Amino acid sequence: MTTHTMTDRKAAVAMNVQALEAEHVLQVYKRANVVFERGEGVRLIDSNGRAYLDFISGVGVCSLGHGHAKLAAAIADQAKTLLHTSNLFYHPLQGELATRLATLTGLDRAFFCNSGAEAVEACLKFSRRFWKGTRTKYVAFTHSFHGRSMGALSVTWDDHYRAPFAPLIPNVVFVDVNDPAALTAAVDDTTAAIIVEPIQGEGGVRPISPAMVAAINAACAATGTLLIADEIQCGSGRTGAFTYSATLGLAPDLMALAKALGAGVPIGAAMFSNRVAAEAAPGDHGSTYGGNLLACRAALVFLDELGVRGSGGVMDHVRAVSAHFDTALARLKAKHASIVGIRGAGVFRGIDIGPSGEDAGWVVSAALERGLLVNRTSTSVIRLLPPFIITEQHIDEAVGILDAVLQEKK
Ligand code: PLP
Repeated sequence: MTTHTMTDRKAAVAMNVQALEAEHVLQVYKRANVVFERGEGVRLIDSNGRAYLDFISGVGVCSLGHGHAKLAAAIADQAKTLLHTSNLFYHPLQGELATRLATLTGLDRAFFCNSGAEAVEACLKFSRRFWKGTRTKYVAFTHSFHGRSMGALSVTWDDHYRAPFAPLIPNVVFVDVNDPAALTAAVDDTTAAIIVEPIQGEGGVRPISPAMVAAINAACAATGTLLIADEIQCGSGRTGAFTYSATLGLAPDLMALAKALGAGVPIGAAMFSNRVAAEAAPGDHGSTYGGNLLACRAALVFLDELGVRGSGGVMDHVRAVSAHFDTALARLKAKHASIVGIRGAGVFRGIDIGPSGEDAGWVVSAALERGLLVNRTSTSVIRLLPPFIITEQHIDEAVGILDAVLQEKK
C-alpha cells in the first residue's frame, strides 16, 4: 500500500513521469513527449506552463472543452451527493438520460456502459440475441474501427490490430467500403447485422457514400438484416446533427454512442429499437458501472449544453463554425498541392496529404512543436477533432499553423 501524500505523489510524478510509466504501465501507447497538467476551454497547458490549441480533445471526448464551469460544478455536486449505486437499484438520472437519447436518436431504449467498445459489444450481442441463434453472421467494412474488445475487434478491419489476438469471433465478412455490389452480395438471410460507421474515423474521416447507403438500406429491407450504426466518433452532435446516420438517410436498429457524450467522463450507450430490445431479458447483459450517477449527470449536462437544432445551443454552434471550417480548409488545400482531399463535416475533419500513401506523422510532430494538437490516422490523414465550442478564431489559428507546417516541408 502506498503511503504517499498527494503532494509527494505530484512531485514524484512531475519529476519522473516517463520513468514511472516505463516501469509500471503496460506499454501499449506511444505517447508524445509532453505532460499535460490542466486545460482551459480549447487549450491544454503542459508541465512547463506552455499552452497548446487542442484539436484532438482527448480523441473526440472533451466536447465541451476543458474546465467547463457548468460541467465541473455538476460533477462536484454529484460527487458530494451520490456517485454510484450499481444497477441493482434505481437512481434518478438513468431513465431521464435514456429518454433524452431516445428522442435524439429515434431508438427507443438505452443500455449504458463505460466506453465505445462496450457499446459496440452490446450492439453485437443483442443483434444476435434478436435472431435467437438462427443468424450469426456480421457484415462489416474495410477500414472500419469499432474498438479493441474481442467482439468489437472482430468487426474491426485492420489486421495490425487483429492478428496478435486471433482467433477472433467467427462469421464476420468484410466488404469493400467502396463496393455497393459486394455489400449486396454479402448480405443474405444468414446475416444477423451489418455494422457501419457513417463516417469512418480511424479509417481516414471518410463518410459512407450515397451508393453504399442505398445498398445498405436495400439489403436490410430485402433480407431483414439488422443495421448497427457506430456513431461513437461521428455522433453526439459532432457534425451538427445528433447522428450522422440521420444525415445520410440510414435507419439503424441499433446504435453505439460514447466519446463526446460524457464530455470527458467515461460513458457509452447502446441504443435499441423496441423490436430488438423486446428480446432482451434480465441477466442477458450488464455492467457494474454502466449508467452510474456521475456518468449520467455529465451526459445530461452535455445534452443540456448541446441543445437541439434551432435552440441556440452547442449543436447550432457546430453548424455555424462548420461553414468557416469549410472555407478555411478549402483555402489551405488550394495553397498546398500535397493535400489530396479534405473530408468530414462539422467539427470532424480530415486533411489527406497522401497521394502515394505518405505518412502524415511528421505533420503531427511539427504542429505539436508549434503548439497545435492534431492526430494522424489512416497513415496519410491529419484528423481534426476539436471541442465543439471552438470559435472561428481557433479554426484560423489551427489552419494557420498547419499552413506554416506544410509550407516548411516544401
Ligand atoms: N468505434 C469508433 C467509431 C471509434 O472511433 C472508437 C474509438 O476510437 C471506438 C468504437 C472504441 O471506443 P473506445 O475507445 O471508447 O472503446
